[in-house]
Amino acid sequence: MKIEIDENAGFCWGVVRTIEKVEDVLDSNPNSKISILGEIIHNPQEIKRLADKGLRTVSLDDLPKFGENEILIIRAHGEPPSTYKIIDELKIQLIDATCPLVQNLQKLAHKYYETGTQVVIFGKREHPEVIGLRGVCDDKCVVIKSATAALEMVDFTRKTLFISQTTMDGKTFDEIEKNLIEKFKMHSSTDLLSVNKSICRFVSGREENLRKFARENQVIVFVAGKNSSNGKSLCNICLSENSNIHFIETADELEKNWFDGVESVGITGATSTPEWCLNEVKERILHLNK
Ligand code: SF4
Repeated sequence: MKIEIDENAGFCWGVVRTIEKVEDVLDSNPNSKISILGEIIHNPQEIKRLADKGLRTVSLDDLPKFGENEILIIRAHGEPPSTYKIIDELKIQLIDATCPLVQNLQKLAHKYYETGTQVVIFGKREHPEVIGLRGVCDDKCVVIKSATAALEMVDFTRKTLFISQTTMDGKTFDEIEKNLIEKFKMHSSTDLLSVNKSICRFVSGREENLRKFARENQVIVFVAGKNSSNGKSLCNICLSENSNIHFIETADELEKNWFDGVESVGITGATSTPEWCLNEVKERILHLNK
């Protein structure tokens, strides 16, 4: 049986950057308590690896308890302005590891919102990145998950900016955009609509390679945290090419019978799946099939 790890899988640039920053802060501040606001990525194994090195995961409620010798890190997803205000008021030492691509998107949304433009975001309302985007628009933006929702929630007579959470699916974005254009044509003018397809190139660039990888292997093992939005979206792309797919979080979930009579297995994952996790899965499959 041939077992191949997808060479395009693994952490995206933004996540690598955040983890490097975290490890650097941990190494250079051995006497300080280091915390991150919210899970660093949706991957329990990587969270545990960093927790073993001393990284604590905290919530907003923990901030008032911070002492002088504590450092807080903001993760790649970013935070709304209200969080920065709390950190500032509590005089907490901060290291901001927000992904620069997310930062730019926040700036764009804020710039349009400030001029009275309706900001429409394709994304999940409670996703941390969307919470940040909502925050820069004083939560007066429209968040939609589907083309139908767009038709119900958008005011087609206002100047509008249409953007996306960076990890959403490109095809659905295009569908929504098409619907919005039609509706603006009908109710006012398409001149009112500005579109920025802000899906991260580390996610969208993978789509094509992933489809090919899913077609080329008989069985696909997709490794990602169960809460990973990017993981679900990439796994669905694989599923549209190959129905023989197993979504797992750890190698412990593998079952021997998935590989009975199988000639080729492809192992891939989300942008939050560490390379060592993919290697572990490969080793376990080899072991199961000895
Ligand atoms: S997926 Fe893209 S936008 Fe999101 S953290 Fe990674 S590099 Fe940044």
